Amino acid sequence: MAPIPGSGLAKGLAVTLRTMTRKSVTKQYPDTQPDLPPRTRGVIGLFEENCTVCMLCARECPDWCIYIDSHKETIPAATPGGRERSRNVLDRFAIDFSLCMYCGICIEVCPFDALFWSPEFEYAETDIRDLTHERDKLREWMWTVPAPPALDPAAEEPKEIAAARKTAEKLAAAQAEAKEGEE
Ligand code: SF4
Ligand code: SF4
Repeated sequence: MAPIPGSGLAKGLAVTLRTMTRKSVTKQYPDTQPDLPPRTRGVIGLFEENCTVCMLCARECPDWCIYIDSHKETIPAATPGGRERSRNVLDRFAIDFSLCMYCGICIEVCPFDALFWSPEFEYAETDIRDLTHERDKLREWMWTVPAPPALDPAAEEPKEIAAARKTAEKLAAAQAEAKEGEE
């Protein structure tokens, strides 16, 4: 059966009318900031105090856009006759966000919780070279990393907290014993 002349136009107008009466979902960025989920992949923050320069993140990055330089430092023996130890000292840590594809592999593989996602995304530059963020800038992003979600109240106590609590209890008991001995 041939379509009624003008039915297509009527259908189109009906869709237009329906859409016009609905609430708009368009947000007027940058006047209105978007409501982003807390784990949005905006930029990567470096908590350099936790970084042991193990190089895992740089090796696993598919884009080879993490640049790390370091040197070794010798730590004198803790006891007389003991062995000296050496540790890595970070000289440079940079991420080139013009190459990064935001896969999150570096954050996943870091064994020492030194890398985190921040939802900040407003760091566009007019010069591509400025998209390489050096360690100070990466450290600054840490201030914008949201706090982790609260633990499930029924969850098992994390091992680190249990160990810290036991140590604190032992210390308190030893101090109490020493005090009793003095009296
Ligand atoms: S998010 Fe992916 S691409 Fe970006 S620095 Fe990390 S590992 Fe490399
Ligand atoms: S994986 Fe973590 S600890 Fe190792 S170099 Fe990268 S940020 Fe540092």
